[in-house]
Amino acid sequence: MTRHRNLPLLSFYLLSLCLLYSVQVQGQKTTAPALTRAIPSPQAVLGFTPGDDRKLADWTQITNYFARLDQSSNRVLVQTLGETTLKRPMIAVFISARENILALDKYKEIQRRLADPRTISTELERNRLIATGRAVVVISCSIHSTEIVASQMSMQLAYELASAQDAQTLEILQNAILVLIPSANPDGIDIVADWYRKTLGTPFEGKEPPELYHHYSGHDDNRDWFMLNLKETQLLSRLMWREWFPQIVYDVHQQGPNSSRFFVPPFYDPPNPNIAPLLLRQVGLFGHKMAADLQAAGFKGVITNAAYDTWWHGGFRTAPYYHNSIGILSEAASARLMSPTTITREQLSKTSARGMRNALEAATNFPDPWPGGEWKPRDILNMELVAARSVLSLAAKYRASHLRNFFDLGLKHVNYTPAQNEPLAYLIPAGQGRDEAVARLVGALVGQGIEVHRLDQELHAGFGPQVLQRMNSTGEKLGVFRTIIAHAAGVHEVPAGSYIVFLAQPQGANVRSLFEPQIYPNRLTPLGEAERPYDVAGWTLPLQMGVDAPAVVTIQEPVGDRKLTLIRETNEVRRDLALPLKETNGSPIASPLRQGPRIGIYRGWTANMDEGWTRFVFDTFNVLYKSVRDKDIRQGNLLSSYDVLILPSQRERDIVEGHSAEAYPQEFTGGLTKTGVANLKAFVEEGGKLICFDSSCNFVIKHLGLPVRNSLEELKSSEFYSPGSIVSLEVNQNHPIAQGLGQDTAAYFINSSAFETTDGKVRVVARYAKQDLLRSGWLLGEDKLRGKIALAEVPLGRGNIVLFAFRPQHRGQTWATFRFIWNAISS
Ligand SMILES: [Zn+2]
Repeated sequence: MTRHRNLPLLSFYLLSLCLLYSVQVQGQKTTAPALTRAIPSPQAVLGFTPGDDRKLADWTQITNYFARLDQSSNRVLVQTLGETTLKRPMIAVFISARENILALDKYKEIQRRLADPRTISTELERNRLIATGRAVVVISCSIHSTEIVASQMSMQLAYELASAQDAQTLEILQNAILVLIPSANPDGIDIVADWYRKTLGTPFEGKEPPELYHHYSGHDDNRDWFMLNLKETQLLSRLMWREWFPQIVYDVHQQGPNSSRFFVPPFYDPPNPNIAPLLLRQVGLFGHKMAADLQAAGFKGVITNAAYDTWWHGGFRTAPYYHNSIGILSEAASARLMSPTTITREQLSKTSARGMRNALEAATNFPDPWPGGEWKPRDILNMELVAARSVLSLAAKYRASHLRNFFDLGLKHVNYTPAQNEPLAYLIPAGQGRDEAVARLVGALVGQGIEVHRLDQELHAGFGPQVLQRMNSTGEKLGVFRTIIAHAAGVHEVPAGSYIVFLAQPQGANVRSLFEPQIYPNRLTPLGEAERPYDVAGWTLPLQMGVDAPAVVTIQEPVGDRKLTLIRETNEVRRDLALPLKETNGSPIASPLRQGPRIGIYRGWTANMDEGWTRFVFDTFNVLYKSVRDKDIRQGNLLSSYDVLILPSQRERDIVEGHSAEAYPQEFTGGLTKTGVANLKAFVEEGGKLICFDSSCNFVIKHLGLPVRNSLEELKSSEFYSPGSIVSLEVNQNHPIAQGLGQDTAAYFINSSAFETTDGKVRVVARYAKQDLLRSGWLLGEDKLRGKIALAEVPLGRGNIVLFAFRPQHRGQTWATFRFIWNAISS
């Protein structure tokens, strides 16, 4: 799967190249021109300069360019990491001084040791590693593929670093190793490039493609950094957190066109309490350096301390904090893909965000607003180039202090000793009967470099209290939570075969942030409305996955006396649990459905991420389905092709109307229309089963006239708000859809729904719990949700409609509730 370059061979190759080079330049006083001539510019290879209007290099062109750089520059080495979801090569480009490139293995080993202070026994050794190491910087481009400019910028940046001879560049090359990811989603580069080229010169030029730019996740490809569902996150997590341990990670993005021109850190509030204060300070240092360099270079419209926060755990730029590294984000205002656009003062004046009253008003965090006018891809590219150089230069200049801080943070976690009743580890007890979920959870942890041990001998452990209270620093109570599973407090025997995750490890903060419940601070605007966080408020992974993982506060026997085995690869867990290792259809999991009903998953043209994740879950479980398009539903006679139709969560308007005729070419417009809605109704009345997730329930309730009401629909955010949290369900275990589910099951609620009915025909499968409702995250107006219907079956004619008020398959993470879906299909 991984095709590493043969390093000895390469070293030889590079050496001979250098030899050639030194022969070439002998007798010349100025070496720069000769070197510059030897290295192809992007222009020379592509036929245009990155950032030119209406020019877009696709993935083949980008990888070809980097292959040419690799061949011609002794500062550049391209590594193929593996294959993407749609089987394109994923690459990382190492750029540094020639002597660093020749000694990559040495620097990799230094990184590995600095990342794990337990491998360093003396101060002398530590000092030597810090003195000889290099600052390792990852710059990743265009994970969001419509934020396309950075992928083009990557070639220009690499070219300049490979060819320039100025003092700043040489300092960067000497002291830092850049690991450049030209795209964290190569499939998406081609999806966008194909679409952009097709629509160039048409009224649709510069529009986003009418499909997800990642096969399964679309924009959510940057919501996967602790779950590692996607091949791309798996490959990059291995590169970053199991091989290279970069001290600095810079993720280059674009935001909407009408806001600030460029966001850099510091971030907005609230910070995640598990992020080391030192990291937040360093992130701020980098951000202010970037902002100052951009200002010095004459760019307007740079903002800090706005819009984006560090609460949530799962993004490219937040994951580094849990590996003791600096994570930086920039967000440039978008053009129209690679076409220029014009932004008026009025548009700017109407755009606000947290930390920005409007995009025209100067403030301390936004001292020089951009006045509006033409905005070109080149403007974005130029700002990104300055920002990238700024990061590299700061990394290089303070190389030793970055390495020292990185080591010290790791050491602090390694030396963690819990206070009384504080967890020292989390346990995944053997024999829970959810082996696939356990294997997947341990696999996700191991995949991001967290140490997990298997107990080869039983031990006796004391568990924490069932109730966890959180106070803020002034003693105010923030929340009371039940711990993950109601384990009786006290000492219990833990059987051999259990897995244990200690907090005293370099990634202690990561363990804590994934296992403990999140308590999001109650943040309200001056008008009393909920202040929206950047992403979700709660994600506690074992809870989402339905895996019992209690906190351990004491272990009776000395741990050293008990045999523990470190898990190195996911498949070791599958072997332990006697699960199949062989892959079918890309996934080793056998289908949970005995007979094979004909399943259709609705797929409109509005690039619905929930639809993509639904396919992801079905593919993971080897459950066969067909994607059903608007035109298929408009044609009717659905029962001849399908037994079950699934509507992923989607707004009513997007389902019924789709894109308007002005917005997209005709084949991508229209939605179901009235005809499609009537056909869907006929499908159920004649005996079909329709399963709806979250928002699409509202569509069905309204258009198929169900005797059910969404009681949250009309509420203001001052009355009710829950932006991605885990809640408890009270499950009616007598209902076939609840078969195998616990009476108390955790479910994912993300601005979701809650139903009421007075009709006796509606069969309730689960309700939101009447007490201890919130398990992780933020829930404002809890009384509005308590006891309301969360999952129900509604008969219609000879068929049935299943209404999921919540998200049973959210981002492919909610293993706790997948079983409801399989039951709903087969019951
Ligand atoms: Zn983005």
